[in-house]
Amino acid sequence: MGIINLHTSIEYLKGVGPGRAELLRKELNICTIGDLVNFFPNRYIDRTRFYKVNQLQPNGAEVQIMGKITQIKTVQQKRGSRLVATFTDDTGRMELVWFKGIKWIKGNIKLNMPYVAFGRVNWFNGIYSMPHPELELQAEYDKSLKTAMQPVYPSTEKLSKSGISNRVVIKMLQNLFSEINRFRETLPAQMLQHYSLISKTEALFNIHFPKSLSALSKAQYRLKFEELFFVQLQLLRKNYLHKTKIKGYIFDKVGDYFNDFYSKHLPFELTNAQKRVIKEIRKDMATGAQMNRLLQGDVGSGKTIVAFLSTLIALDNNFQAAIIAPTEILAMQHYQAIAQFAALIDIEVALLTGSTKKKERKTIHEQLENGKLHILIGTHALFEDKVQFKNLGLAIIDEQHKFGVAQRAKMWMKNKLPPHVLVMTATPIPRTLAMSLYGDLDISVIDELPPGRKPIITAHRYDKNRLSVFKFIKEQIAKGSQVYIVYPLIKESEKLDLKDLMDGYESVERYFPRPNYQISIVHGQMKPADKDYEMNRFVRGETQIMVATTVIEVGVNVPKANIMVIESAARFGLSQLHQLRGRVGRGADQSYCILMTDYKLSNDAKTRLETMVRTNDGFEIAEVDLKLRGPGDLMGTQQSGILNLKIADIVKDNNLLSIVRNVATKLLENDPNMEHPEHKNIRYAYGEIVKNKGIWVNIS
Ligand code: ADP
Ligand code: MG
Repeated sequence: MGIINLHTSIEYLKGVGPGRAELLRKELNICTIGDLVNFFPNRYIDRTRFYKVNQLQPNGAEVQIMGKITQIKTVQQKRGSRLVATFTDDTGRMELVWFKGIKWIKGNIKLNMPYVAFGRVNWFNGIYSMPHPELELQAEYDKSLKTAMQPVYPSTEKLSKSGISNRVVIKMLQNLFSEINRFRETLPAQMLQHYSLISKTEALFNIHFPKSLSALSKAQYRLKFEELFFVQLQLLRKNYLHKTKIKGYIFDKVGDYFNDFYSKHLPFELTNAQKRVIKEIRKDMATGAQMNRLLQGDVGSGKTIVAFLSTLIALDNNFQAAIIAPTEILAMQHYQAIAQFAALIDIEVALLTGSTKKKERKTIHEQLENGKLHILIGTHALFEDKVQFKNLGLAIIDEQHKFGVAQRAKMWMKNKLPPHVLVMTATPIPRTLAMSLYGDLDISVIDELPPGRKPIITAHRYDKNRLSVFKFIKEQIAKGSQVYIVYPLIKESEKLDLKDLMDGYESVERYFPRPNYQISIVHGQMKPADKDYEMNRFVRGETQIMVATTVIEVGVNVPKANIMVIESAARFGLSQLHQLRGRVGRGADQSYCILMTDYKLSNDAKTRLETMVRTNDGFEIAEVDLKLRGPGDLMGTQQSGILNLKIADIVKDNNLLSIVRNVATKLLENDPNMEHPEHKNIRYAYGEIVKNKGIWVNIS
């Protein structure tokens, strides 16, 4: 016919029609012919291989069997009925079972004729059975095209119930390919050659109907390359546009505040990583574009001093700075650390949180507006519109994942031009992944710990050995230690968790009786004020043991606490375990992390525990975590679009991702608007993506 193209509604493809089109749109978001051709199989099955009944295994695998239906009967059951056919070959018999469409099937089945049945096999009531098989007379089967790799497409219950089976989808694609046999190339010829990529047309054919295993893997490689390439191109373009379009204040002076502090008051020599990062930040803030930078650094890597030195650059250029933390305790600790530094060079710092008194609040507001206050530290209270600065130049946000993009944007409104933004996170993410996830942010990494840190010793112990663990704790407390004992918190059953915690608390109390020992307890069902009270007793060293659920704050700094006991450690994720362990190892003493579990452990749990015992390196842990869980949880609310990949896997295809990112970076460096003739294909494809469903709606 020739009138069909990729933009044509799917309805007009042979074998579809309005009814099926509606279903495809609703269930799979397939609206056009182009959507269908980009709807990739999630696996392939071998339809040339046949099983015999006596070769079946009760493993739920999909198999294909040749045989005859010798008997068919309807069985009444509590709800409705089922149709059971006896299916036999020369080695034995099994059952085919239907729960739906019984009448039609019964009317159409031909007894004692050779059939091919295909489906998943279960072991049920002492016999193998295949529910809702794909059933085809052998005569028909022989006529149809068979391949060793038949595509299997993602489906939904509704689709299979409505008769859009895998076979129907395959038929649709066959119809599509008989109408359209050439697809527009999206990459330049020279790129195809350089990276040994097959053409778009060949790739699309082979992803749906692979000629061979090697053709299939070439098709997958080409399509993954393309997919990741265009994602990176969008991210990098966005970053580029940000830098060219969003003007920022120019901090070109490094003046007295910075120099004074740096030369006279620095409490320790900075690590090379800290120095490098400060340079990156300084350079960024001097360009005239607004800085939008992510600072990644493992727990204890020394982000606070970097934050403080950055604020001094703002001050040197006659601007104010703000530091925002996700909780009161964290804000308070930042405040304490920074107020100490600030006193040395005579700058004004204040703390603003939800519990700041009205009168004090009023003074803060005034001094912010008249410029007397240089640095404001606080919680999300700072986001409020009534918090106005005379001249805010830099906003530093700690632990970004706790704040949404929308909140970050609030800070943008606090001056005529948006202030520079530095986001700090202790959740390490492998660099290539971070660059993909937070593509609009530039990234700095502190990949070095301050010298002299003793690595935390981590051990895995079984519940049965708790007494020897307690004994060890007793000895450590006698030497002046403080101890965290953490219990899991699972939202669905807060009551149960509280019970666990309380039981644990009682046994700790029994072993560590008053008045020799003092114990703090913190959990999610306490009032914030009570939590703070208990937490502060521990911070001040009035209690030696802190029994808590995971509500204990990320980032809390109690240098004398050098033992972290994690109860039911198998119930925690890896990154959570690592964050918790990061609460210790902050002082001069050797620190310990003890992971308590019972004997029953899943394989994943074993891997998590082994990883924790083996390494203290947050980035290594993040890699393992990604392999175990996939990237889903890293995202929070932001930019989840990036994970809607059709074929590439941001974790498994990490190497390809780095290659592709370099290709995209070089391309944009030479040709930021993709105007060169050799980039024609790319420009066109990019335009289509952005027009249709570009992953970025706005600049966040
Ligand atoms: P985090 O990155 O987890 O926020 P902090 O900034 O709280 O880490 O630093 C952790 C501890 O290390 C603090 O006690 C801090 O004073 C100390 N510290 C930071 N940088 C250095 C350094 N270069 N040399 C020695 N100690 C440092
Ligand atoms: Mg910190």
